[in-house]
Amino acid sequence: MSFSALGLSEPLLRAVAAWHYEAPTPIQTSAIPAILSGVDVWASAQTGSGKTAAFALPILQRLSAEQRPGGRFVRALILAPTRELAAQIGESIRKYARYLPSPLKTLVVYGGVSINPQMMALGGGADILVATPGRLLDLIDHNALSLSNISTLVLDEADRLLDLGFNDELARIIALLPARRQSLLFSATFPPEVQALATALLQNPVRLDVPTEPATKPEILQRAIEVDPPRRTQLLLHLIAENAWLSVLVFVATKYSTEHVAEKLRRAGIEAAALHGELSQGARTQALSDFKSGAVRVLVATDLAARGIDIVRLPVVVNYDLPRSAVDYTHRIGRTGRAGVSGVAINFISVGTHAHFSQIENLHSLDLPREQIEGFEPVETEAPVSLVAPDGGGIKGHRKSKKDKLREAAARAVGTTGIPSDITQPAAARSTSRPPAPLSPPAPPPRNGATPSRQSMNDKASPPRSAWPRLR
Ligand code: AMP
Repeated sequence: MSFSALGLSEPLLRAVAAWHYEAPTPIQTSAIPAILSGVDVWASAQTGSGKTAAFALPILQRLSAEQRPGGRFVRALILAPTRELAAQIGESIRKYARYLPSPLKTLVVYGGVSINPQMMALGGGADILVATPGRLLDLIDHNALSLSNISTLVLDEADRLLDLGFNDELARIIALLPARRQSLLFSATFPPEVQALATALLQNPVRLDVPTEPATKPEILQRAIEVDPPRRTQLLLHLIAENAWLSVLVFVATKYSTEHVAEKLRRAGIEAAALHGELSQGARTQALSDFKSGAVRVLVATDLAARGIDIVRLPVVVNYDLPRSAVDYTHRIGRTGRAGVSGVAINFISVGTHAHFSQIENLHSLDLPREQIEGFEPVETEAPVSLVAPDGGGIKGHRKSKKDKLREAAARAVGTTGIPSDITQPAAARSTSRPPAPLSPPAPPPRNGATPSRQSMNDKASPPRSAWPRLR
């Protein structure tokens, strides 16, 4: 299938050719003709699937063929959950619109920056407005625009919009839209709340369930490395040096940890920046652009950066703290392996988090061999007592129940009578400095013959990886 078979106009075909898109991705193949025909669409699509072009190209085609109304009207409204994603969608639209015979006015508005320039920019309306919900409502309250002429509405990453608590904002926005419109809903997952939103929003939608794998064929090598929490930064430094990684996105659980880990890396001579939701918009944009330009080698981020952000050719993602959910895991590791470029996703696992990681693996039908790196073998044998990781990270751990604590106290008391006090530990943990058995299950048998060459790292306990496990 080629782009020209999808019914796109010549200026848009020129734009995709200029961006070296050789063939449409599956979501583009199915969504572009459907959107051009004017129906409502409900599509399951991950970031990295090419979904932005899937909705942007047909919207551009329809808008450039239609008459533009005057006044403060907006013709197409795209709602995105985060400022970064909104900015990225705006950039993509501008690049796809480049060869259109008459320019279309595309604006991006989000909170965290002054509203006045956005109000000024909206004078005379806009053909396409990309917005986060809160700022859009602020602008409407300031009478800066009207939604009464919207012909197309896109909800991008609808699951994330709801996750972030935008339900009320969405309800208010939808109530302001004209009844006659085209609505497009894109979401990576379809929990009941998203289904309810889709039912409320869409009329006789075409449902597009394209394969959830990113269609630009990324290969993501996923690895699980056992390490004690206090040694994670040292291990990270070791891996960066050993593999000569030039660009690494590191995920941590809290804003505090982003600053803390970035600071430790900087002290070790690695250019690092923190990215989290409490930074000013200017600081966030700066951190991202420094990372994208290579001025900063390591970006230490909370999950804020996990969704939507397209960092082309990002080779490595490290889960310094594990994500809370399997869905967050997908989004985090999806930052690498984009647009056909392979990537590595590394998970740091400790005795306190291995059960949580096993759950994530189960949900994704993964079974990663546990690796240990020479010089960083874990010695801790007990799960942390609290839900909070030792450095303040909010990892889901194994909180000891009152009963567990009573049982341990009883075991200690028995220990004074001659029975080994570590009787509650597995034998392996008692006799050696290695972690208890559940941390190191036997590596699964090879699934195919290919052995990634990058496996030449100092993997000590596990055999070389023999497959490229991929999320299903
Ligand atoms: P998205 O899922 O929209 O965030 O797109 C992910 C990445 O894929 C972006 O870097 C796009 O520029 C790129 N992309 C989108 N469509 C295609 C295509 N048909 N061929 C190659 N790359 C594409």
